[in-house]
Amino acid sequence: MSTGPAIGTESPAKAGPPVETVTAASYVIPTDAPESDGTLSWDSTGMIIVRVLADGEQGLGWSYGSPVAAGLIRDALASLVAGANAMDVQRAAEAMTRAVRNIGREGIASIAISAVDIALWDLKARLLGVPLAALIGQVRPDVPIYGSGGFICYDEKQTRDQLAGWVHGDRIPRVKIKVGESWGGNERRDRERVALARKVIGPDTELYVDANGGYGTGQAVRVGAWLCDYGVSWFEEPVSSQNPAGLAAIREQVAPDVAAGEYSWTLADSARLLDAGAVDCLQLARSAIS
Ligand SMILES: [Mg+2]
Repeated sequence: MSTGPAIGTESPAKAGPPVETVTAASYVIPTDAPESDGTLSWDSTGMIIVRVLADGEQGLGWSYGSPVAAGLIRDALASLVAGANAMDVQRAAEAMTRAVRNIGREGIASIAISAVDIALWDLKARLLGVPLAALIGQVRPDVPIYGSGGFICYDEKQTRDQLAGWVHGDRIPRVKIKVGESWGGNERRDRERVALARKVIGPDTELYVDANGGYGTGQAVRVGAWLCDYGVSWFEEPVSSQNPAGLAAIREQVAPDVAAGEYSWTLADSARLLDAGAVDCLQLARSAIS
């Protein structure tokens, strides 16, 4: 009979130093000009920055969203993470998730938990001396990128300059513009802007559109038909990410790939999109890693 340690007793989580401090800061960064999509307008972006320290290393995490998330970290989350085993990120994430039961897991709490969670994963990687990608598990050696903007409120010159800058200046072979103006109420201008984008970027650049949930299900199917006239290959949030059945129905009937998930707040939300067959590409923008 073996006299060695029981399985699991030598795991890295057992040997980690305690998290010494958790700090959160928030920043409001003005955009260079007013921006809008089909369902929202804004002139600044909020950023949450979290720093966690252990054994001489610092982990950095961030999320974007309302600055009030930084207050939630300070008031409700930091004391749960300070003193915890820096190697046991999932346990800290679970403690944070349980603590926001009465606050509400989605929205602000998810933004706050995500920023801390990312900082803890970064800290763990630094303590182990490995790249974060290697710690989590790297699936691909690289990823394709696209230029994302093409805001509804841009005039023709702003749109031309932005798209031309990405494609002809930065040599980015994919771009994305917003559609779904006024919750789908100005489809004529949507089409004019898609036509303009194709004209500016030429035939060989991939063209993506994002409706930010602005269309109805039937309207999105009709829009999906004319998007093909302009070679659009990516139709993001034709309806809300909170409507998996609608997304699945649209995906069945349009040629462009359907993408959604930016407003999934938890991994369970994302699993529901996959289970419904709602997306060709699942976007993970706000869920915590853990
Ligand atoms: Mg989007």
